[in-house]
Amino acid sequence: MRKNIVAGNWKMNKTLQEGVALATELKTILADAQPNCEVIIGTPFIHLATVVEVVKGSVIKVSAENCADKESGAYTGEVSAAMIKSTGAEYCIIGHSERRTYYHETYDILKEKVRLALANDLKPIFCIGEVKEEREANKQNAVVKAQLEGSVFNLSAEDFGKIVLAYEPVWAIGTGLTATPEQAQEMHAYIRSLIAEKYGKKVAENCSILYGGSCNSSNAKGLFANPDIDGGLIGGASLKANDFKAIIDAF
Ligand code: PEP
Repeated sequence: MRKNIVAGNWKMNKTLQEGVALATELKTILADAQPNCEVIIGTPFIHLATVVEVVKGSVIKVSAENCADKESGAYTGEVSAAMIKSTGAEYCIIGHSERRTYYHETYDILKEKVRLALANDLKPIFCIGEVKEEREANKQNAVVKAQLEGSVFNLSAEDFGKIVLAYEPVWAIGTGLTATPEQAQEMHAYIRSLIAEKYGKKVAENCSILYGGSCNSSNAKGLFANPDIDGGLIGGASLKANDFKAIIDAF
């Protein structure tokens, strides 16, 4: 059966010292808790190895926020999936809308990133979602379908079974505008139907599909109560341990 997951995405926030303090605080407040979901924190590359050490012995798992689309070599400034794996991180966020928009990551680039993450035994958290104009033109289903077909529906059923999806309507990310539980459930059910069509019902039922976009302690419960919403990818509200814990407690 699929897992419920609450995953943080720190984005480009926190110095190393601040990140260690946040991870330490989260570990402390989760020490006596028994979360009904997997807990992941997505940190900048430079935090990974240290944060992996900090959260050892706790329920918290660690994710990178990106990886290179190349295996190794003369790509100054890039960080490969193998390097991420060597830090002890287990997950890698791929295809976040900020990377698609600001760093022009295409379907093909993302396909390669997913391939390299899987080849290095990292679990991709693959993000999809439409922009405001696409939602207004009622094109959200077509957009999300194209994103899946462009970057992950090439995978074998076995490899697809290793990825987590995050539906993140771009108009809701960092804007305070959350999709309603009905809008999110409708899209998650649609995504699951596409997976069932491609890989069969069992793979679809086992796939965790997270919601992301201004998810916080006030709206998480309403979102997570839906049958096809298996948790959240949390940006802003993952930067304060108590806010993040309150979202975890929504399960
Ligand atoms: C995100 O960055 O994936 C995200 C959902 O951000 P926020 O929660 O701040 O909208």
